[in-house]
Amino acid sequence: MARIVGARAHLVDLEVEQERTDAVQAFLKQETVFVELDTDDGLTGTGYTYTIGTGGTSVLALLRDHLLPRLPGRDARRVEAVWRDLFASTRATTVGAVTSLALAAVDTALWDLRCLRAGEPLWRLAGGSHDRVPLYDTEGGWLHLSTEKLVTGALASKAAGWPGVKLKVGKERPAEDVERLAAVRAAVGPGMDLMVDANQSMSRSDALRRAAAFEPFGLAWLEEPLPADDASGHALLARSTSIPVAVGESLYSVRQFREYLERGAASIVQVDVARIGGITPWLKVAHLAEAFTVDVCPHFLMELHVSLAAAVPNGRYVEHIPQLRAITEGELSIEAGHAVPPEAPGLGIAWSRDAIEDRRRA
Ligand SMILES: [Mg+2]
Repeated sequence: MARIVGARAHLVDLEVEQERTDAVQAFLKQETVFVELDTDDGLTGTGYTYTIGTGGTSVLALLRDHLLPRLPGRDARRVEAVWRDLFASTRATTVGAVTSLALAAVDTALWDLRCLRAGEPLWRLAGGSHDRVPLYDTEGGWLHLSTEKLVTGALASKAAGWPGVKLKVGKERPAEDVERLAAVRAAVGPGMDLMVDANQSMSRSDALRRAAAFEPFGLAWLEEPLPADDASGHALLARSTSIPVAVGESLYSVRQFREYLERGAASIVQVDVARIGGITPWLKVAHLAEAFTVDVCPHFLMELHVSLAAAVPNGRYVEHIPQLRAITEGELSIEAGHAVPPEAPGLGIAWSRDAIEDRRRA
């Protein structure tokens, strides 16, 4: 059998590996919430979720007080049934960020168990579409970096054979964004993908104006130009610019994605496996996007998203922001600018148990 006989959660703080800023915030630390599930056939599945600095203890409390007590006795193989039961049990706080983050910690642990039991890596069990996925770098594009540093970072990525780099935008004056983009485009030439990310910082008029100013740089996408709950604003913008509009890191349910896709408001889907509630809904969003002929370029969490982007036919890019080095062994495998999904059975993340214990806050 595969009955759940033990369920635990704990919280680990990870310092950011480098200073990271965008138009609206700084990434202060990664609060990483782990869930471990033991089954009566002797397996332990490890799942996780995260915040970039606030709310981690709320996620932990929801897990400990409400979600984990429902798990003992459940069949760990019935992932959909468990997910639906947990979602229904938190009806008054769904759809919502904290609940989705908590569900993700449980769901990824269930998928770890599923893969361990099958003896298969996640990327193959979830679909096995690609054995590698193009990688783009965000670490060289933060908003506080000087134009000179942006150029240096982009040239280093190009020299390493990476196909794309992302720059944060949303400087006080549009001309500053344009100057930075022009310098990077001139340095790397026309053959590299450049993406920009506004982190929901713009008004509709500002987004229309800046998108027009960005048009000459042949951008791969403009990410989160407007507040994430303004689907009609994104639809308006998408009709007004040739730059693909990318959204998804701040959406928390499959139906929120459906609304964006139905309205033509998203040309790139950036579903985040933690914020959507786990691998189970992540795959639904990816397949939904495929039905709209839209690619998936997931947000952050490269250690897990490499396997998910490889699993689905429309997995287009993995975002390079390393943040688990302090608590894992080994590195993301990168070959010629592509991320290679791990072959180890399970989620494929080699956790360092001692390092996790050392950093445990709660
Ligand atoms: Mg973003």
